[in-house]
Amino acid sequence: MKTLPVNGKFELMKLPYPVEALEPVISAKTLSFHHGKHLQGYVNNLNAALPGSPYEGLSLEEIVQKSDGGVFNNAGQILNHNLYFAQFTADSKEDNRPSGKLARAIEAQFGSFEAFKEEFVKRGVSLFGSGWLWLSANEEGTLFITQEGNAGNPLRQDLKPLLTFDVWEHAYYLDYQNRRADHLNALWAIIDWEVIEERY
Ligand code: MN
Repeated sequence: MKTLPVNGKFELMKLPYPVEALEPVISAKTLSFHHGKHLQGYVNNLNAALPGSPYEGLSLEEIVQKSDGGVFNNAGQILNHNLYFAQFTADSKEDNRPSGKLARAIEAQFGSFEAFKEEFVKRGVSLFGSGWLWLSANEEGTLFITQEGNAGNPLRQDLKPLLTFDVWEHAYYLDYQNRRADHLNALWAIIDWEVIEERY
């Protein structure tokens, strides 16, 4: 899937749920700052940097794969946040889990969905500084958990991004302060596994 600019500009993605829909896991205050201020800022910065650059007219995904420096930082943050915000559902569930092909791949590679969740959160907690935790897949469907610093995205290693946890402090500090593990563990209840399975 390609995200294309409209009249030379990328647009702020629309949230697929109301701003208070993810409470109490993600508060309306966190979500409105995260989407309306942080993501909007990355969109504005990228749009300002594109005219006259070699990336003008390319899709967001191509810019993420080809650029570096400030263009990459802003384009990466836009793509990462678009994937992040689109993967949540207002329909929070206690025993929320994937099904079908993705569930079978997770069980085959990690032993069980519970073991996968534990490993994923562990890698998120051990990511030093700001960055993103990813579940991605190669063309054969093999799954990978990777830590990416700053604006990193597994697309840069030709992997297909499936699921991501934002571990920048702006994603959780208002609600969880320094308790990153609590925040990451709480996210499982609001993952829309149909979205993730479609990406897979
Ligand atoms: Mn963020």
